[in-house]
Amino acid sequence: MFDLKKKKGFVCDLDGTLFMGPNPIPSAVKFVIDSTNSGRFRFFYLTNNTSKCPSEYMKKIAGASIPVVPEQILTPLITLESYIREKGYRSVYLIATEKVKAHLAERLADAGVTLDYDPERNELIALTYDKELTYDKLARATELWNMRNEPPGPMCPIRTKNRTPVDFVATHPDNCCPSECGPIPDVGGMLKLLETTNGMKPSHVFGKPSPTLLSPVLAEFAPEEIAVVGDRLYTDKAIADNAHVDFVCVLSGETTREDLARYPGSPPSIVVETFDKVESSGK
Ligand SMILES: [Mg+2]
Repeated sequence: MFDLKKKKGFVCDLDGTLFMGPNPIPSAVKFVIDSTNSGRFRFFYLTNNTSKCPSEYMKKIAGASIPVVPEQILTPLITLESYIREKGYRSVYLIATEKVKAHLAERLADAGVTLDYDPERNELIALTYDKELTYDKLARATELWNMRNEPPGPMCPIRTKNRTPVDFVATHPDNCCPSECGPIPDVGGMLKLLETTNGMKPSHVFGKPSPTLLSPVLAEFAPEEIAVVGDRLYTDKAIADNAHVDFVCVLSGETTREDLARYPGSPPSIVVETFDKVESSGK
């Protein structure tokens, strides 16, 4: 039973929950602004989209007059940064937009991490939602993998001196990104392209539905004190389920009542038309 009185924080999906494309959903945004200003709830903002820096999301959220600080933005770029630090990697071949690369270079400067292609030194290939992706970037990922990870054979006569296998991770699994003109390619498609080429597969895929993205929130709150709010069952509900926290399903985005009726998994903790209605449903 969903109990609003127990809640201290909400982890909010953005598109379909607080925004429809570039436009704020007025009643949902007003609820967030009022609850932030009164200190009633803490809010965190969740996105799998790693084509943008957290600062760009701050701008979007602040643009809707919602008070926001960097610690409230949760993107798999944070998980990637933690992963690189935990593993102690110093040389990463990062496939990312120039902006995201500059962001991560700055974040990881204290750890002496470089993010350029270097077949002898690279310890990790990290794939993000690179909207500036080129054939060369993809070819380098496969070449690096071939030279370091597969046994030498006729397909790859050139081997690096460094024989330590290179690790490979991706920031999120989304097959497509929604756009005004329907689905466009996202990391999931890039992963399939690489796998089809030489069989390379990531050791980790961060982002929704992996619960690692919620680690900063669960370090502060008990699972029963928070809920994930979102419009997609297979990503937003999945991350809530994987982290064992409540899921508030909003009908302001992708999911319809028909989808919910057909959904084979457990039902959401509550279903509301727009996020602000959580108030009346919780009573
Ligand atoms: Mg959404």
